[in-house]
Amino acid sequence: MTVVRFAPSPTGMLHVGNARMALANWLYAQHKGGRFILRMDDTDADRSTAEFADAIEADMKWLGLEWDVLERQSTRMARYAAAFHRLRDAGRMYACYETPDELDYKRKRQLARGKPPIYDRAGLDLNDAQIKTFEDEGRAPHWRFRLDHETIEWHDLVRGPVHFEGQNLSDPVLVRGNGTYLYMLPSAVDDIDLGITDVIRGEDHVANTAVQMQLFSALGATPPTFAHVPLLTDIGGKGLSKRLGSLTVASLRDGGMEAMALNSYLAHVGTSDAIEVRESLKDLAADFDIQHTGRGTPKFDPDQLKALNAAALHGLSFDDAKPRLSGLDNVDEIFWAAVRPNLERFDDVSLWHKVCFGDVHPVIEDKDFIAAAAGLLPSEPWDETTWKAWTDAVKDATGAKGKALFLPLRLALTGLDHGPELKALLPIIGRKRASGRLNG
Ligand code: GLU
Repeated sequence: MTVVRFAPSPTGMLHVGNARMALANWLYAQHKGGRFILRMDDTDADRSTAEFADAIEADMKWLGLEWDVLERQSTRMARYAAAFHRLRDAGRMYACYETPDELDYKRKRQLARGKPPIYDRAGLDLNDAQIKTFEDEGRAPHWRFRLDHETIEWHDLVRGPVHFEGQNLSDPVLVRGNGTYLYMLPSAVDDIDLGITDVIRGEDHVANTAVQMQLFSALGATPPTFAHVPLLTDIGGKGLSKRLGSLTVASLRDGGMEAMALNSYLAHVGTSDAIEVRESLKDLAADFDIQHTGRGTPKFDPDQLKALNAAALHGLSFDDAKPRLSGLDNVDEIFWAAVRPNLERFDDVSLWHKVCFGDVHPVIEDKDFIAAAAGLLPSEPWDETTWKAWTDAVKDATGAKGKALFLPLRLALTGLDHGPELKALLPIIGRKRASGRLNG
């Protein structure tokens, strides 16, 4: 069975970049009838907070990306320690004592000589006396994983065949001097323990995958299938992390974004599929294929998203809208059909509700014209033909036509120069209110 995971670090709010990765995993699992795990990568106790973890969960739920299992790395430390001991006993871990400054110096020297800055494995050659000296100085070791110097290959669902040479990579630090784990080992241990079959993540992790391929083998596991997705940038091509403020899921939601508009956008941006709005996650999952992801860098286009949001609202059925209309009186299918094409965000509905049922400030410039029109209002019952019948009569009586006919009537009836079609609005406004407004 397909098992995937989305693994955010709860060190900030969920932004569109992470949400896109969460969605890709969710749709992939859904498409294959698999399981979706939410894993909080919260080993960094200084930067992770319960508030961010809660906010990520809330944002995921709002998007509809429910998970089958929730795991927190902070509760799994014993598993990481066991893996560390296993690797150390197998001779794959070695202690290093360099300070960050010393490492930096080594790197600069290598670069100055035109060499790639690969760790020189000095830690492997330390003798007991040297180790004792370091420890007497109060240095605590950090631990590196000894990579096998061989070719590392996999078939990536997005990138195709990928290969690295082990000797071109630095042996990665897995455990810091203070005993805490960096991302690399816990992630691989979790992927093994949780039976992850497919890892879909950002292409910033490609080099980590090369290392993790060897970690999986060293821990006696078969590596999962990988898909590395190019990261979303802003419209100017800059990494999104630079300007996350307005691009968090929470801020988009507060700004009136529909979850399905955002889902539809994020599922399709950067793929060979058309960017169009779908009614449900199920619809998106039905034809989701991670292999449609392109190799180019996708750009986040706020205008395209806005247009999709309007399209999502214009396609929202009354049944789906109804629970969100409960605070408004007199709302029925006819009202919804009349105002829906004019919504840019759902909350706009209150404005059109007020135009239909509340107090408006009629704007009347030509009093005689409006008085003449008021005198010609047909008697009820009113329906969608009333507007034409009435304006034809006003046109005959006054000679006004086109914009000179329609705009003053709209301004007097609604107080606004734009809005839903009056042929739909007029019967909802009704004769009593219409007459009141025309008579100022
Ligand atoms: N916490 C990691 C990140 O957000 C997870 C990467 C992964 O999917 O393995 O980058």
